[in-house]
Amino acid sequence: MIGFGRKPRICIVGGGFAGLNAAQQLKASRYDVTVIDPSPHIEWLPNIHEIISGVKKGDELRLNRAILLRRHGHRFVMRKAVEMSSSFVTLDNGDRIAFDICIVATGSVDNAFGVPGADRHVLPMKTVEQCQQIAKRLHRATLGHRTCRVAVVGGGVEGVEAFGEILRTYRQRPQFEFTIVDSAERLLDCCPGNLDGTIRSHTDRYRVGYELGKRVEEVDPEGICFDDGSALESDLIIWSGGSAPNPFLSQSCLTQTPNEWAAVNGAFQSRNRENVFIIGDAAQPDGMALSKQAFHAIDMGKCAAHNVERLLAGKPLKEFTPGHKPQVVTFGDMDTFMLFKDFALSSSVLGVAKEAIYTMGLLQMSPPKSARDVLHSLDLLQKSVRRVYLPTINPFSLIDKLPKAKLLS
Ligand SMILES: Cc1cc2nc3c(=O)[nH]c(=O)nc-3n(C[C@H](O)[C@H](O)[C@H](O)COP(=O)(O)OP(=O)(O)OC[C@H]3O[C@@H](n4cnc5c(N)ncnc54)[C@H](O)[C@@H]3O)c2cc1C
Repeated sequence: MIGFGRKPRICIVGGGFAGLNAAQQLKASRYDVTVIDPSPHIEWLPNIHEIISGVKKGDELRLNRAILLRRHGHRFVMRKAVEMSSSFVTLDNGDRIAFDICIVATGSVDNAFGVPGADRHVLPMKTVEQCQQIAKRLHRATLGHRTCRVAVVGGGVEGVEAFGEILRTYRQRPQFEFTIVDSAERLLDCCPGNLDGTIRSHTDRYRVGYELGKRVEEVDPEGICFDDGSALESDLIIWSGGSAPNPFLSQSCLTQTPNEWAAVNGAFQSRNRENVFIIGDAAQPDGMALSKQAFHAIDMGKCAAHNVERLLAGKPLKEFTPGHKPQVVTFGDMDTFMLFKDFALSSSVLGVAKEAIYTMGLLQMSPPKSARDVLHSLDLLQKSVRRVYLPTINPFSLIDKLPKAKLLS
């Protein structure tokens, strides 16, 4: 190991999927690890749309960062990092955290593509709190008799999952009208299989509209204006229109412009600084077209931690080999899709897979250590069994649902 005369100081900026998994690999007996994040909880983002329908509550999707990190003997600093140099990170209170190696895992931020009015008139859905806000607004609309026109902007995975949850709870309510909007001609345009047709076939009995192939030009209190001159009156606009690089990257000179993801080599080492690794959504590894997904972020965290150890030990770094796991996309209680490279499977039975990823993921991130943890884990498991596993995989349900499973290519 390169001699420091003390434990090497490793600073991790961002304690999400990538950052926390990196921290969990590093031993406190060998390294002095500090994780910086402004929020007290890590949120299990792949299931946050279920808050909108009330299927899950916020506390079922949150884990306390300080507790997770304390278990590994690491330090948690609950602040926002504003910039970094080659040897320290500056926090929003002016404090500096010195490091020998820094891992940047700041994820992405909402992208409203500079659409005028979006910052004031839409509801984003990137956090538990934002989804709780959406749930509250939808519930409030059920208390009156006025028609509530709900628009979801974004027909990608997140938008479709949110749309499905809204329809799960409100599609039978006569006062609601629903529209999904995207500039692409088809929903889930980047996914294999004609999922657009399958989704539409589920909604043709309900007050559901599709505004596809149109770009949102402006949002105002009345609704959405499109680039072709048409408009959609909306009372509630939910925005899931994409993600952009976190400004921390350009503020720290890890990118040249604010619109770039950070260029890294195949071992996640920054192109600009040898002692900086960048992982998760923030990173753009050379020659790899990685989708911005939690399971890649988790694997990147592990790989970067091992490369930090190798760098400190003076060993050559190891390139990342991305895993191939199918992605599971739910459409409320109406369907679930399992997406492979060239084809998709469709069956509501697959909802079990999404729930299994959630329960296993939380248990892996926070393995029970005390009697209290075990009780908490059993409580989560019992909720999953009651809500998803039993209703879906009992023999009567399987006899009914399995023959309707479809292969879409
Ligand atoms: C609604 C939604 C649904 C999704 N569904 C799926 C899915 O079904 N399957 C899937 O695989 N992926 C899904 N994803 C994508 C997945 O969540 C991301 O790819 C993953 O979270 C990326 O991990 P990350 O660690 O790079 O970033 P994040 O998990 O976003 O973590 C980044 C962390 O950095 C912190 N941070 C940001 N700026 C600073 C700063 N300046 N200083 C300190 N800390 C900072 C943030 O607070 C955050 O905790 C979904 C994402 C969203 C938003």
